Order: sequence, then C-alpha cells, then structure tokens
Amino acid sequence: MRAHQLVLEWVEAQLSSGKLVLGGRLPAERALAEQLGVSRTSVREAVRILEAMGVVRAGVGSGPDAGTVVIAEPTAALASAIRLHMATQHLPVADVVQTRVLLESWAAAHAQPDSPGLAEAEELLEGMRATADTGAFLDLDVRFHLALAKAADNVVVSAMLASLREAIQVYTANVMSRLPSWESALARLRTEHEEILKAIGNGHAELASRLIAEHIEGYYAQSAPENTPENTRQ
Ligand SMILES: [Zn+2]
Repeated sequence: MRAHQLVLEWVEAQLSSGKLVLGGRLPAERALAEQLGVSRTSVREAVRILEAMGVVRAGVGSGPDAGTVVIAEPTAALASAIRLHMATQHLPVADVVQTRVLLESWAAAHAQPDSPGLAEAEELLEGMRATADTGAFLDLDVRFHLALAKAADNVVVSAMLASLREAIQVYTANVMSRLPSWESALARLRTEHEEILKAIGNGHAELASRLIAEHIEGYYAQSAPENTPENTRQ
C-alpha cells in the first residue's frame, strides 16, 4: 500500500468510528505524519485527494480557523467525476437517461406534498412559462427536476441527480438543437411538467412516477433515429 493510502484509510476509519465528525479537524500535518509513520508529503497528498472528493477543506495559516476541516460536499466531486468520464466517452447519454428515469421516477413516487421542493418546482415552472429562450428554458428545466427530486427527501438520490446536472444539460441542449420546431417542444415540455406537478400535488404517486419517466424518455427519443449509443456519446 502506498503511504498516502494509509492516511486515507486512517481518515476513513476515524470517520466511520465517529472519532472524526463533520466540522471536526484533522491533526496537524506533522503530527499525523509522525503518528502514522509516513512522510508529510504523503499526508499532503492524501489531504489533496480528500479535498477533491469534497470530504475536507484544507486550512491555511494558524489560529482557531486553521487546520483541515471535515466537510460534506459530495455533489461537486461526483459532478466533476461524471463530467470527466463523460469526456472519456465511457458514460453514454443513453445510460445517463436511464439513470435519470430510475432516480426521478422513484423520487416522484416518494415526493412529500408539503416539501419546499414542490414550491420551488412551481416557481421554476412559472419561469419556464415566461421564457422562449431554449438555453434559459433548459436551465430552468434541469433545476425543476432537481427540485422535484428534493421533495422525496433522500439526500443520496438528490446528490446523485445533482451530479448529473451538467451531463443532463448537455444532452438536452443537443436534442433541442436537432428538433424541427423548438417552439412546439417547449410547449409540450411545459405541459408535461404541469401534469407531473399536478399528479404529485394530488397524491397520485404512481401516475407521477409514470409521467416523469415518459417525459424524460419521450424527450430523448425525439433525437431518434440518430440516438444510437455511438452518436449520442459526447
Ligand atoms: Zn423536464
């Protein structure tokens, strides 16, 4: 095992056992290096990895605010990992679409009617009615879907979906650019969003779940016949 992995394992064990908690601090670099019998360079390397994964924020200087603090920002790290893997073309758009259907149809079925996420979705819907600009519309669209998912009150599902945000925005814009009429597409998407929100508001979990799956799959299917995996990879 490489030295920095030893440090990563130690941090993970501390977190798992609850000895290190959110907002807590890692020992100083020198102390940790001595304790684990590794070089300070190895500790630094481990801290950089943890930082990139959104688990810690490395501190600078001295005083009460210095030191490496445990944080929880999984979305940014997941998002950049997914973006990089999209770039390597190992994450085909068709698979992103299926994952959306999986997460979002579950979320729609489990949305809490009193969740602030639904009020937020309603506001975003208002924004979508007011704009005819496709870029602005698609931005509101993806935020609408994230707000709906938030209403299911599952932080893991929300973080996973949020990490797909950029990937979603890229493929939805690509589909839009290939449509013969974006005006009719926007009108259709608006109506579908309204129906999904209405189904959730009325407590029709199964209907909401089905409508959102059809909404996501239907939009993507419009890029056919070009939507072979090769052509839709980005
Ligand atoms: Zn939508």
